[in-house]
Amino acid sequence: MIIDSHCHLQMEDYSNDLPSVLSKAKENGICSFIVIGFDLQSSIKAKELSQKYDFIHPVYGIHPYDTKEYDISVFSELEDLIREFPPLAIGETGLDYYRDISPKDKQKNFFNRHIELASRYNLPLVIHLRDAFNDAYDIMKGTNRRNDILHCFTGQENDINRFSEFNMYFGISGIVTFKNNELSKLVNLIPQDRILIETDSPYLAPVPKRGKRNEPANLSFILETISNLLGKDKTHLINMLLENTRNAYRYSFNEC
Ligand SMILES: [Zn+2]
Repeated sequence: MIIDSHCHLQMEDYSNDLPSVLSKAKENGICSFIVIGFDLQSSIKAKELSQKYDFIHPVYGIHPYDTKEYDISVFSELEDLIREFPPLAIGETGLDYYRDISPKDKQKNFFNRHIELASRYNLPLVIHLRDAFNDAYDIMKGTNRRNDILHCFTGQENDINRFSEFNMYFGISGIVTFKNNELSKLVNLIPQDRILIETDSPYLAPVPKRGKRNEPANLSFILETISNLLGKDKTHLINMLLENTRNAYRYSFNEC
């Protein structure tokens, strides 16, 4: 059994064909989907999908890009959602300095508040970081957070080492299949019980689907690549990833 540990199936991109996207995934052995909110509306939609399908599980939060749209009152709305339908985690939150979309101070403030929320409800955090590893490390160091999830890892070797101080899980996306990517050289350096895989659909479609809308069925290309990089046969790898995903999200997940 394979789990897509990070995707956005609540997006408009799937409004016409979600049932066939799901059945295609299941044909490829992917039978649970963690659907991640990135703003209030998408968190609500993640909840609604999870109410409709028992193999979909929601995560609620405000992506760093979207922080500029909100003031802190949004956190009481996120709390309402948590009480209505408990999520597997809080996020995606974090810091993104690659694009200058939301002010850094706002991003940091929201990251801190997501951390408080996750701690209050004893949930893991799903963290998005791009070009902001130093600030995120400083923020995390001031907390006692452990066992959170750094999704779509794009850092360096030294980031694996320092974020491992927090017993972080590292999500590997389709980037690992791209030509001349840096990530392939690092996969072997991540502690094996800390590796997760994700599509981040509809973004980051792996080779040979690069440039198209991504979907969970494409997880098989990422699996294949990681299996080669780690020199691990696929069955063994799938079992390892299932165990890791269960531990990271503290949930057992149903069989297909
Ligand atoms: Zn995402």
